[in-house]
Amino acid sequence: MASSSSNIEERFKINSEMESAQFKDFAKEMIDYVSNYLENIRDRRVLPSVEPGYLRPLIPETAPEKPDNWEDVVTHWHSPRFHAYFPTANSYPAIVADILSGAIACIGFSWIASPACTELEVVMLDWLGKMLDLPKEFLACSGGKGGGVIQGTASEATLVALLGAKARAISLAKQAHPEWKDSDIISKLVAYSSSQSHSSVERAGLLGGVTLKSLKPDSSNRLRGETVEQAIKEDIEAGLIPFYVVATLGTTSSCTFDNLDEIGPVCNANNVWLHVDAAYAGSAFICPEFRYLMKGIERADSFNFNPHKWLLVNFDCSAMWLKDPSWLVNAFNVDPLYLQHDQQGSAPDYRHWQIQLGRRFRSLKLWFVLRLYGIENLQTFIRKHVALAHHFESLVRKDDRFEITEEVIMGLVCFRLRGKNEISENLLKNINARGVIHLVPSKINDVYFLRLAICSRYTETADIELSWNEIKVVANEVLSQ
Ligand SMILES: *Cc1c(COP(=O)(O)O)cnc(C)c1O
Repeated sequence: MASSSSNIEERFKINSEMESAQFKDFAKEMIDYVSNYLENIRDRRVLPSVEPGYLRPLIPETAPEKPDNWEDVVTHWHSPRFHAYFPTANSYPAIVADILSGAIACIGFSWIASPACTELEVVMLDWLGKMLDLPKEFLACSGGKGGGVIQGTASEATLVALLGAKARAISLAKQAHPEWKDSDIISKLVAYSSSQSHSSVERAGLLGGVTLKSLKPDSSNRLRGETVEQAIKEDIEAGLIPFYVVATLGTTSSCTFDNLDEIGPVCNANNVWLHVDAAYAGSAFICPEFRYLMKGIERADSFNFNPHKWLLVNFDCSAMWLKDPSWLVNAFNVDPLYLQHDQQGSAPDYRHWQIQLGRRFRSLKLWFVLRLYGIENLQTFIRKHVALAHHFESLVRKDDRFEITEEVIMGLVCFRLRGKNEISENLLKNINARGVIHLVPSKINDVYFLRLAICSRYTETADIELSWNEIKVVANEVLSQ
C-alpha cells in the first residue's frame, strides 16, 4: 500500500531554523544588518587585507551535515573611498525589489510562464527609453518592431547583438548568393570596434566565431567615421563581409565617446549592424545636457547601458533596446512543445532575446527604483557625481606635480604624476597598499594613469577631499624617494 501524504510529511521533515518561525526574525535582523552595513560603510577599510586563498582555511572543508550560520569578508564596493573600475549600483528600493523577486521566484522565460514578469519588463524598458529620449523606433509602445529587454550584463548584450547581426548578414548574403553555404559566409564576416572598446567586445567576437578587427581611435581616443569607412571599404574589396560595429559611449579606460554621428551613416550605407555600448555613461543620458554625446543614436540597430552601474539599480540589470529584435528571435528560436503556449507572438517571449532560458523578475528593480526616486532625484544623483568628479579635477589641476590626462565629462577623472610612468605606478602601488582608498590604473598609448571613479551613492565633497589628501600624502612620499 502506498504511504499516505501525512506519512511523507513525518518521514521527511526539514529541520532548519530557516524553515521555521525563526526565519522571520532572521530576515528582519538581516535587513538591519544591511542598513547598518551601508550607513557605516565609510568606517570600514575599503580593501580587505587578505591574500588569494585566505578564505578556505577559515571555513570548514565540507558543507555541514546540520544547518549552520554564515559569515563573510568582502571588498567594500560601496565605500565612498572606493574609486576603482566604474560604480556598481546600490539602493534600498533595488535591494527590496530583489527581496521581492526572490520571494516570487518566478522564471519568466515566456509570457505564459509569468505574464507580469514579461509585461512589466516591456513597460519599464519603455519608461527608461523615454527617460533617455531614445528614438521611438527602439520602444515597444511605438507599435513598431522595436523593443527593450533586460540582459544580465553589457557583455551579454554585445554578444547577443553580434549574433543577431550575424544572422542578418548570413540572410543578406544568401539573398545575393543563393549558392553560398553558411560556412562560406561566416568565414568572410568581419566585425569592428575601437581598440579602446571594452574587453567584452573582443570576447563577443571569439564567442561568436567571427573575425573582430580593432580600429585605431583618433588623438582624442574617439573612434571616427572615416576610420570605420576605410576599414569597411578595404575589407569589401578583399571579398570579405563587414557586418557589425560596436561604438562605445564612455570607454572603460578613460570615459571617451566614439563619434556615433559619423559612424552611424557609414554602417547604414553598408548594411552593417551598429551596436552602441554605453554601459557606464548611458545612465547620464537621463539628463538632457549630456545627450549631445549620443547624437546619431537614431542610426544604431541596438543600444545598451547598465542601470546596474550608475542608475541605483543593483546588479544585474543591463538595459538593451533593438530596432528589429526579429533577427535575434529568429536566430535563437528553438521551439520545443513544452515551451509553447497559446499567446505566442502577442507579447515577447524573452527566452528568444537572450542566451539562457531562465530569467529572474529583474524589472521589479527598475519599477521600484524609478518610482521611489523619480526621474528628478536620479538626475540629481548623476549630476552630483559629475560635480564631485569636477571638484576632484580642480584639486588635481591646482597641484603642478600632477596632470589630467583626459577631458572629464562624467564621474571619472584620469590623472597622473608628471614624468615617467614609473612614478605614477609607484604612486598607485603605495596608495592601494595603505588601504584607505582604492583606485585602479589604465594605460593608453603607453601613458600610464590613475583612474578615480566616483562610485558610491554616499560620496560627499569631504570624501573627495579625503581621497585627494591621501593621494597627496602618498605623492609626497613617492616624490621624495
Ligand atoms: C563595464 C563595462 C562593460 C561590461 O559590463 P558588464 O555588464 O559587466 O558586462 C562593457 N562595456 C563598457 C564600456 C563598460 O564600462
